[in-house]
Amino acid sequence: MAPRRPTDLDRAVDDAAAARSGTGRADPAAFGLPARPACPFCGGEETELYAPFGSALSVATYWCLRCRTAFERFKWQAGG
Ligand SMILES: [Zn+2]
Repeated sequence: MAPRRPTDLDRAVDDAAAARSGTGRADPAAFGLPARPACPFCGGEETELYAPFGSALSVATYWCLRCRTAFERFKWQAGG
């Protein structure tokens, strides 16, 4: 898929989330997402929300600090 230009809506969502968390990163709680889901690759919980929307609206992208791999998580997935 070709990269697309961010829309004003993207910016508004990003700005609002960053403002809420105060870290410049989206706050998982603002999107009803777990803060540190287990990494599917190494099982570690040193993970952080990278983007509240991934390749589809139904997934969020996380980053694993342990194995340094990005992974996507379905938003309605049960458990941490
Ligand atoms: Zn990992």
